[in-house]
Amino acid sequence: MICQERVRLLGNYRDAATDYAGKVREMVELAMGGRESESNAKRVLCRAAWEAAESSRLALARHEADHACDRAGNLRGVEGLDAV
Ligand SMILES: [Zn+2]
Repeated sequence: MICQERVRLLGNYRDAATDYAGKVREMVELAMGGRESESNAKRVLCRAAWEAAESSRLALARHEADHACDRAGNLRGVEGLDAV
């Protein structure tokens, strides 16, 4: 069984990265359309979304480092480690 907290953190990271990617796409489309002031306003939102994505990445990495649950899957089936 995969760690449920890791599942939650993976989902957060995916959602934050998707949100970031969407905002970058919108910002680029505005810039390419010559709508510079709107693009610059969107760029502020891109920065905030990047920070949210980065903090969710760090939360996931910290949890995996502390809990070692990203390695549990590789150890499954090894005798005596199933309960870890
Ligand atoms: Zn875990």
